[in-house]
Amino acid sequence: MDLTVYQRLNRKIGHKFFIKPRFLRLDCGVLSICFDDFPRTAWTIGGAILAQYGVHATYFASGAFCDKTYMGMEQFTETDLLEAQEAGHEIGCHTYDHYSALEVSTGEFERSIEKNREFLCERLNGEAPDSFAFPYNHVSLQSKLAVARQFKTARGVGTGVNLNWIDLSEVAGVNLSLTQAAGYSPNKPGFLDINELIEQAALQRKWLVVYTHDLADTPSMHGCRTHGLEELLIKAKQAGLAVKTLREVTAG
Ligand SMILES: [Zn+2]
Repeated sequence: MDLTVYQRLNRKIGHKFFIKPRFLRLDCGVLSICFDDFPRTAWTIGGAILAQYGVHATYFASGAFCDKTYMGMEQFTETDLLEAQEAGHEIGCHTYDHYSALEVSTGEFERSIEKNREFLCERLNGEAPDSFAFPYNHVSLQSKLAVARQFKTARGVGTGVNLNWIDLSEVAGVNLSLTQAAGYSPNKPGFLDINELIEQAALQRKWLVVYTHDLADTPSMHGCRTHGLEELLIKAKQAGLAVKTLREVTAG
């Protein structure tokens, strides 16, 4: 998505402000896995892998995608949503319409969040979401303030682990598409070494949050390799990381 100069400035200002500062204290390093939107494979393939390793993830659903195809990929169904919740995963909130915070007014952004919250509550036995993910990882100061009022935690984008003082209104999430988990080459721009980040999180007892969309042997440019997810979980366990949902990490 191409942003105007004004939108970029708005985003820059948004990133600068810590709305919900919190000092991170963890007993051990933690890995949180997020699936955004979410394509069906995140549940049909991802759910099976997560169960195999006995861990839970956070699924950020956009109501408008339910039972639809988006970017050529089949998206979650109502049954997927409920099954994921019943299996112990966290269902988080995106905007219903997958609106970017930089493309619509704050009022429209908030209405789309409200619509999504209702969509999720109706389908998940009244359970309201605690966590939010900014679509396209676009933030503005106004949207961060609005989200901080409504959710315990919001996830944005980052290139590393969450250390010491973190902002619960924009927790840094690493895009797995830029790591070896998605088959992204170390020679390409923006490459992030997920193994190094796992080591760092373990050694410093910090919080590594990652996100992706679909899972496949040959995923989309926004997705992750099926084996990449398994390798990630194996590495995390070997390093001694606990795998938790965002809700579990920020509880209390
Ligand atoms: Zn999204």
